[in-house]
Amino acid sequence: MTPLNATHDPARTSWVASANDGVTDFPIQNLPFAVFRRTGSAEVFRGGVAIGDQIVDLAAATAAGVFTGLAQEAAVAASASTLNAFMAMGNAAWSALRAALSDALSTGSAHERALRACLVPQASAEYAVPARIGDYTDFYTSIYHATNIGKQFRPDNPLLPNYKWVPIGYHGRASSLVVSGTALRRPVGQSMPPGATQPSFGPCKRLDYELEMGIYVGPGNALGNRVAMADAESHVFGLCLLNDWSARDIQGWEYQPLGPFLSKNFGSTLSTWIVTMEALAPYRTAWTRPADDPQPLPYLDAPDLRSNGAIDIQLAVTLSSAKMRADNVAPHTLCRTSYRHAYWTIAQLVTHHTVNGCNLQPGDLLGTGTLSGPTATEAGALVELTSGGKQPVTLPSGETRSFLEDGDSVALNAHCVAPGRARIGFGTCEGTVLAAVV
Ligand code: MN
Repeated sequence: MTPLNATHDPARTSWVASANDGVTDFPIQNLPFAVFRRTGSAEVFRGGVAIGDQIVDLAAATAAGVFTGLAQEAAVAASASTLNAFMAMGNAAWSALRAALSDALSTGSAHERALRACLVPQASAEYAVPARIGDYTDFYTSIYHATNIGKQFRPDNPLLPNYKWVPIGYHGRASSLVVSGTALRRPVGQSMPPGATQPSFGPCKRLDYELEMGIYVGPGNALGNRVAMADAESHVFGLCLLNDWSARDIQGWEYQPLGPFLSKNFGSTLSTWIVTMEALAPYRTAWTRPADDPQPLPYLDAPDLRSNGAIDIQLAVTLSSAKMRADNVAPHTLCRTSYRHAYWTIAQLVTHHTVNGCNLQPGDLLGTGTLSGPTATEAGALVELTSGGKQPVTLPSGETRSFLEDGDSVALNAHCVAPGRARIGFGTCEGTVLAAVV
C-alpha cells in the first residue's frame, strides 16, 4: 500500500479556487487522470488531471517548464492520447508526477502563473476512453450480489460452492468499452420468454445496469510469471467507475454452458476520470472474512490483507427518465453502498488472474462485478432491487421501473471520506439508453 505523504495533507489548498470548496470531487488531494480535448475541436486527445472544475492540460504543462526529472518524463508519457505508456512506468513515476503537480497547484506555488495558462475548464472538454484497453476481465466479487442473484435461480442454495474459494471471473469484451456520456443503443437478441416453446428475436426487454468499479492495470507481468500478493498493487494504476450494462433476458437464454456473450458485449461505460491508488491511500480499511467462512488459500493471503486490504469508497446509482429531465426533476437515487463490502480484494484479483502465468498488460481493465452491500437498499442492479422485475421501483415522476426504458439515463457516482482527511470523488459515469434498431 502507498504510504501517506504531503500530497494527502488535508490542510493543503490550491490556487485553483474551485478545488477548495469542500464539495468538489477534485480537491488537490485527488488529482485523477483522464484523456480529453476541447469540445468540438480538432485538437488531439491528450492526458489531463482534474483540479476543482478545471483540467491541467499535461501536454501544455510539459512545455511550460513546470516539471523536472522523473516527473517531467511521467508528464510527457501522460500527455499522449492514451495513458498506456504512463501506466507502464509504475509507482515511482506516478508518485513523482503527483508530488510535482500537488506542489505546483498548491496555494503560493511559484508555478501558478505558468500552470494557470495550462488550464482547460472541464465544462468545455470532451473525453475519450483513457487507455487502449487490450483485455477486459470481469469478476464477481460481491458475495451479496452473488447471493441475491443465486436466490432467484436456487432459493435453497443461492451461493455455488466455489464462490468462497476462488475469485470468479470471465473474459469480457474490450472493444465496446465507452467513456461516460456515450449514449447506448438498446441491444437486440434472442430470448426465451417464460412458457414459450421457441425463442423470439427482438429488442431486449430486461435491460439493466451494473454498479462496478474498474481497475486499470499498470506495469504488466511477462507470460509465465505470476504476481504475488505482496506485489499485486504495484501492478495497479488506479480505479474508475464502470457500468457493465446487462441484457438479462438475452443472458438467461444464451449463458449456458459457456457464460454470458451478446448479453454483455454491446457496451460497458467507464467514468471519465481514473483515481490513482496513491490518492486512495487514506481511505484504506480492514478486509474481513467471517471466521466460519473458508480463509483464503495461501497464494491469496498476505500479512497486510486484513489490516488494509479493502477501500471504503461510497457508491451511488441514480436514474433519471426522459420525463423527469423534461420536468426538471432531480435524478432519483436507486442505491447507496460501499466498495469495502467486496469479498475479494484488488490484490487478490491481480494475483489470482496471473497465478497460472497469464500476462496482464498496461491499460488492461478488471471489473469488480456488481457491487451490492449487505442490505436490500444496497443492491447494485435493478434485477436485485426489483426482485427479478416482480417489485418495480417507483420514480419521483410516478413512473415505475422493473428494468430500464428508452430515454433512461443511469449515472454512477463515488466518493471517499475519512476522519481528518479530504473528501475526494470519482466524477460521474453516465449513459443514456437509446431505442433499439431492429
Ligand atoms: Mn459485470
